[in-house]
Amino acid sequence: MSTARPAALTEKFLEGLVRRVPGGTGNTWKLTEVYTGDLLVELPQSSPEDVAQAFATSRNAQKIWGAWSIKKRLKVLKKFHALVLDNQFLITDVIQAESGKNRRMAFEETCDVPMGTSHYIKRAPSLLKEHKRAGPVPVLSSSTEVRRPKGVVAIIAPWNFPFATGISDTIPALIAGNGVVLKPDNKTALSPLLGVKLLEQAGLPVGLLQVICGEGPDVGGPMLEHADYVMFTGSTATGQVIGELAGKNLIGACLELGGKNPMLVLADADVDEAVHAALFGGFGNSGQICMHIERMYVHDSIYDEFRDKFVAATAAMNVGASYDFEPDMGSLVSVDHRDRVIAHVEDAKAKGATVLTGGEARPDLGPAFFEPTILEGVTKDMLAGTTETFGPVVGLYRFATEDEAIDLANDTEYGLNASVWSADIDRAKSVARRIDSGNVNINDILATAFASKGTPSGGVKRSGVGARHGDQGLLKYTDAQNIGVLKKQIMEPQGKQTYEAYAKQTQLSLRLMRKTRLR
Ligand code: NAD
Repeated sequence: MSTARPAALTEKFLEGLVRRVPGGTGNTWKLTEVYTGDLLVELPQSSPEDVAQAFATSRNAQKIWGAWSIKKRLKVLKKFHALVLDNQFLITDVIQAESGKNRRMAFEETCDVPMGTSHYIKRAPSLLKEHKRAGPVPVLSSSTEVRRPKGVVAIIAPWNFPFATGISDTIPALIAGNGVVLKPDNKTALSPLLGVKLLEQAGLPVGLLQVICGEGPDVGGPMLEHADYVMFTGSTATGQVIGELAGKNLIGACLELGGKNPMLVLADADVDEAVHAALFGGFGNSGQICMHIERMYVHDSIYDEFRDKFVAATAAMNVGASYDFEPDMGSLVSVDHRDRVIAHVEDAKAKGATVLTGGEARPDLGPAFFEPTILEGVTKDMLAGTTETFGPVVGLYRFATEDEAIDLANDTEYGLNASVWSADIDRAKSVARRIDSGNVNINDILATAFASKGTPSGGVKRSGVGARHGDQGLLKYTDAQNIGVLKKQIMEPQGKQTYEAYAKQTQLSLRLMRKTRLR
């Protein structure tokens, strides 16, 4: 076990990271190492004036950046991609110290940024180039679709994947020619700040990418007053507030919100594989992944086998505070969050659920540890039955028919992710198409869909609006400008032509256009 804080995280290094954050309030946030509760660094807290200044500075820099050719912008991103890989284990150290997750998850988080960057480096040139199309009058008219940057984008990121959400969402905004003002969660501001440092090291113009820090309600309003678009990742409750502010300011918003994601293990599934995956599904990132599994529906015929194997494997998990790759699971992010998880489990127990394994906090391991926990008998009157626990707590349920499983999976206000297990891929796909969810993974929990950077990934119902990844993950940061060109005014009666004659001629043209595929 390697419990000592990584040597690279010196006071000088950490203070260097937070130095760029404007601290007009005069207050600081005590950013701590989760495993020990020890202070890592005092994080400046930004004032509304700081927010206004951050947008103004970014807006100035954007005028130059937005005028650069896409090729010139991508040169910076290529260098950044290499720098992230060169610094991957340092980034892993920082993520782990500020979030308390195990090292395997911290490392996997670092992979998201180069994957998304690489995708958009390849895809952006064709997405952002001008597209000339036919106009209403053949030969004499045309229309050109021009993609213009929105201006300055606000990016608000949560603590559960601070580097991935903070930086991966920033990359396409920058590639599209925007400035960015990024607000990470106070608890986990260090890894996004390291990402910003690497971007500037790669040649990003200084000033273009600003970081402001503060409690959400303090800085959120001012941010949305200045932003031209907002990319928000966080809880559904906060997403609603952001959506309202975006509406008030008439700007676009992409909202990536919470989930209560189901896993459906069909009768013909490979039980051992499903059990192995369920460990990650339930307890990966200590259960703090928006796409992780909180409801597991298993077919009657294999339920007992699945349950017994899953409980045994869960009870055998290695949970601990260590900066090496050994632990299967680390800590929750904070004592406050641990208390929320405890409240869900205690409520379930009080209302009749059974704890099959886990169920307890583990202060012996660190201040915010909680055991991987499996519940049986969870019902909808329990907190853990309907609302997102966002911790290592899973409810196990039986089903008899596929229709029943689909109804149960859809019996939620969320629709972010689902996981379907079957030996028959076509059958699993037909089940997948009936689940109301933005993402469905077949014979996997979440990574296959999420890491497919060419396909949009977002939530439906109360899990979100819009998507990241895919073409829309970049194009959402642009406005489409339609430049129409008419070489000669002929969309009106010509010479002495009566309007009636013109109308008949137009009608004929419309018929012809339909038949000739000209328009
Ligand atoms: P949260 O909504 O409390 O906070 C998210 C971010 O919003 C933080 O930076 C916070 O400071 C900020 N914030 C809070 N109130 C604000 C306000 N009024 N104005 C502006 N900003 C404000 O969420 P959280 O607890 O940090 O994150 C966990 C949640 O995020 C879970 O619900 C999880 O499912 C969700 N999540 C979703 C995705 C996704 O892609 N769908 C990814 C990761 C996390």
